Amino acid sequence: METKTVGVVGAGVMGTGLAQNLAETGHEVILLDVADAVLEHAREEIKKSLRFQAFFRKKGEGAPSAPAEPADAVLGRIRCTTDPESLSGVDFLIENATEKWEVKKAIYERIDPICPEHAVFAANTSAIPITKIAGVTKRASRVLGMHFMNPVPLKSAVEVIRGYHTSDETLATAQALLARMGKEGIVVNDSPGFVSNRVLMLTVNEAIFLVHEGVATAEQVDHLFKSCFGHKMGPLETGDLIGLDTILYSLEVLYEELEDSKFRACPLLKKMVHAGLHGRKSGKGFYDYGVTV
Ligand code: NAD
Repeated sequence: METKTVGVVGAGVMGTGLAQNLAETGHEVILLDVADAVLEHAREEIKKSLRFQAFFRKKGEGAPSAPAEPADAVLGRIRCTTDPESLSGVDFLIENATEKWEVKKAIYERIDPICPEHAVFAANTSAIPITKIAGVTKRASRVLGMHFMNPVPLKSAVEVIRGYHTSDETLATAQALLARMGKEGIVVNDSPGFVSNRVLMLTVNEAIFLVHEGVATAEQVDHLFKSCFGHKMGPLETGDLIGLDTILYSLEVLYEELEDSKFRACPLLKKMVHAGLHGRKSGKGFYDYGVTV
């Protein structure tokens, strides 16, 4: 069945980029969050991002795969709501809520009876096992992981995770949706953190330990990775981009799920999150962004 209407749960960093990318590629989007203020901010961010993309299109640089369309037409395909009952007509749902098990569990329990039986549920989680999420629903064969990267409209690949019960049909539906979004899905099996975040979260955390111990400054750590290894961004810039709160919550999930002390979060990371330094989205993390970007 072709996916026409997509429910996007969570209108933070990931949900905002995803709603834009889906709408740009012709999908009707129902964007759900807990507060109107969050949804208004998401619409503003999408407007800004569409203007930014139009500017680069004019210059012939970095044009994304989606065809150029007036911003109003794209925004017209995104319906914002705080009412979960609005998800009653979706064909596909992508959940991007806060990386906390209690938050996600409550969402899946609430929406499972509301969404149509045929709808596929994709969890855009950083580390929570897909099989654990599927266990909360009555549609385990139609649940999978779709680990999008930030910023969603500009990334060409997605880590797709097959849970214990995920069917081939569900994977095919997800791959078809990704193809329409101009993205490649790379399928891996389920494990906490999957492939990318088992490696990335440890790297970012260890880089934070180096700053915490005074071995190097954030700038020096990132400079080494960019100049010596040719990475586009250093690990601390990456942490700021992902969101330091999301890094901390993901490490906590990995620590708990794998029962391995190597995933213990650096005390400096905890202190920064407690102080509200969440990286780019809060305006300050390891670097100062002046305003919320
Ligand atoms: P975020 O903090 O920017 O946004 C989370 C959003 O979820 C918030 O707007 C919050 O209000 C909303 N939310 C919380 N409870 C809700 C509920 N009951 N119903 C609806 N919305 C609810 O976080 P983010 O960076 O967008 O991350 C979202 C998910 O995506 C997390 O699971 C994260 O691990 C994952 N993820 C993040 C990145 C990244 O680079 N930031 C990349 C891939 C995956």
